[in-house]
Amino acid sequence: MVNGYSPKSLQQALLIRSKEAVIPYAGGTDLMVQNKKGAVYLFLNKIDELRQITDDGEYIRIGAAVTFTEGLKSDLIPQIMKEAVSRIAAPAIRNAGTFGGNLGNASDKADSVLIEVAMGAKVRLLSVGRERIMPVEEFFIKRGNTALADDEIIAEILLPKDKCSAPFYYKKVGGRNALAISRVALAGVYEIKDGVIASFSAAAIAGGGVFQRYPEIEAGFIGKTADEIKANKSEYLKAYSEKLTFARGRVSAEYRKTVIMNLIGDYIDTL
Ligand SMILES: Cc1cc2nc3c(=O)[nH]c(=O)nc-3n(C[C@H](O)[C@H](O)[C@H](O)COP(=O)(O)OP(=O)(O)OC[C@H]3O[C@@H](n4cnc5c(N)ncnc54)[C@H](O)[C@@H]3O)c2cc1C
Repeated sequence: MVNGYSPKSLQQALLIRSKEAVIPYAGGTDLMVQNKKGAVYLFLNKIDELRQITDDGEYIRIGAAVTFTEGLKSDLIPQIMKEAVSRIAAPAIRNAGTFGGNLGNASDKADSVLIEVAMGAKVRLLSVGRERIMPVEEFFIKRGNTALADDEIIAEILLPKDKCSAPFYYKKVGGRNALAISRVALAGVYEIKDGVIASFSAAAIAGGGVFQRYPEIEAGFIGKTADEIKANKSEYLKAYSEKLTFARGRVSAEYRKTVIMNLIGDYIDTL
């Protein structure tokens, strides 16, 4: 039997979280398979404040308890996120699994988190009387470890609106398509203004416990035309192959490297 609290408001949830050692529980798709003995859960999926997707002019704000299926139905969620989320597992998992849970689970293979890193998204954390907003890249320290404090919950994920309508690149390569947890994936957004690249990002899932993004290489794309970048493609690939690290997991480091380098080349070709 699953033991816990089922608050109806965010305020109630934060109060319980401040007083007891409870584990936030959204869709339970990760927690159910972890079998934490004696755990007391704080069920978040009945809290309306955490189930909204809103537009504040600067950010698209995704409530932590919004499910992937709800995200896919919303006109506010950008296409790059929809592409990533539509490939997560099977419908039953997408109906229960949430954006907040994907981030809270601290997996370096989390599909929606890769998109958040690529977009430069932020996370809003709440505890009683306190709010913290930080880049997702900072919040996700490494696999199994986030900056979440014991009295906090993830309230929202904030996607910068200027990146929501920007052209993007997204590819995930797994053993089996939809049911595979990402083994290797690349996501990026870019903007072209007056014929030159005005912003560029590339974030990778390649193992090793982190999402990899290299602003110093990205800076080398700015101010160039797509043709200039394509003409110097080998230089960009060299820069990435020197920086990216590839860990062995269910697949070899060499396999990951080959796939990621091919994806980066493909991304450059599509600019
Ligand atoms: C068969 C299967 C296939 C899967 N395939 C994929 C896949 O392809 N891609 C992928 O990315 N994931 C996949 N997953 C993993 C999982 O479905 C996702 O990580 C999902 O987003 C978790 O959301 P949840 O609401 O179910 O999280 P939960 O299980 O409820 O929680 C997960 C973690 O986040 C914490 N948490 C949840 N909400 C909050 C909050 N608001 N504040 C603070 N902490 C919180 C919990 O305490 C827990 O540590 C798969 C899982 C299964 C079982």
